[in-house]
Amino acid sequence: MTNVCQSCGMPLDKDPEGGGSNADGSRNSTYCSLCYSKGQFLHPHFNVTEMQEHCIEQLKNRGMPTFMGWLFTRGIPKLARWNSDDTSQTRH
Ligand SMILES: [Zn+2]
Repeated sequence: MTNVCQSCGMPLDKDPEGGGSNADGSRNSTYCSLCYSKGQFLHPHFNVTEMQEHCIEQLKNRGMPTFMGWLFTRGIPKLARWNSDDTSQTRH
């Protein structure tokens, strides 16, 4: 099974960096390089909806129609980053 980024859902083998990076410079295989770098989220304030919109925008920039972007991103709410039990991070 392909590992996907637990923040944006991108397959990690599609990541040019092969994954995010930890604070000590080692490879992080939970998140991709576009979400996680040097031990920190690049978009720490995103909620799940903002992440989906961000990804659709990125995919559109690469020539993907919006509905395809929507298909690729609709699994995002199921990923680990958005399923912590910490309800204090939920925004309405
Ligand atoms: Zn990602």
